[in-house]
Amino acid sequence: MSIHRKSKFEVNLMKQAGNIVALVHATMKEVIKEGITTKELDEIAYKIIKSNKADPTFLGYHGFPGTICASINEQVVHGIPSNEVVLKNGDIISIDIGATYKGFVGDSAWTYAVGEISEEKKMLLKATEESLFSGLEHMKSNDRLENVAGAIEDVAKKYNLGIVRQYGGHGVGREMHEDPFVFNYRTNNQLVLQKGMTIAIEPMLNLGCDDVIVLDDEWTVVTKDKKASAHFEHTVHVTDDGPEILTKLL
Ligand code: MG
Ligand code: MG
Repeated sequence: MSIHRKSKFEVNLMKQAGNIVALVHATMKEVIKEGITTKELDEIAYKIIKSNKADPTFLGYHGFPGTICASINEQVVHGIPSNEVVLKNGDIISIDIGATYKGFVGDSAWTYAVGEISEEKKMLLKATEESLFSGLEHMKSNDRLENVAGAIEDVAKKYNLGIVRQYGGHGVGREMHEDPFVFNYRTNNQLVLQKGMTIAIEPMLNLGCDDVIVLDDEWTVVTKDKKASAHFEHTVHVTDDGPEILTKLL
């Protein structure tokens, strides 16, 4: 495993990339409503990223056909934007966005409610967001990656939610996926966090079981029991003083 710790110069470029991702999320929050298609959301995201002199990181990544991943209800991650997918009142939609600016990547996902959603979906969103921020508290020098994972696991357990096992967080920098891999549950990981590490933390929690399967499109990951799933992600810089979120508005 090789972990590249970023210089101040590199972190500053990652902040620019993260700002562009945050700009797209701010717009998604405004435009997500009943009747819009995930393809329309994708086109909006593409235009914002390009108009900020960045490139959509996901587009063409291992052949992925979209700027965003748009995953509805029981879809966990990697949903393909489509003209056929029209948002309905009561849906939840996870939007994952990557932007590359001057060679550096920002990566952030958020799950949004479409209109009025059920109480259990509200709980799922609140709990998954809480698990992200609970994990982030440990993103400081000399803390351990295991404590990030453990904090996420503890919140999931508190709300009796399933934890997706096959996917997780990752280092980010010039590449979207760098070392280390970050599980969302304890694995006795011995890695000690050090300043300059930049890592995407991204819990994926389910209303039902942990298990997921990949659909025939070879991208879309869904829960095996078809119960709803949520995904919240920030790219974060480890510092001596604590976590510095890079995927936020500057
Ligand atoms: Mg992501
Ligand atoms: Mg990620």
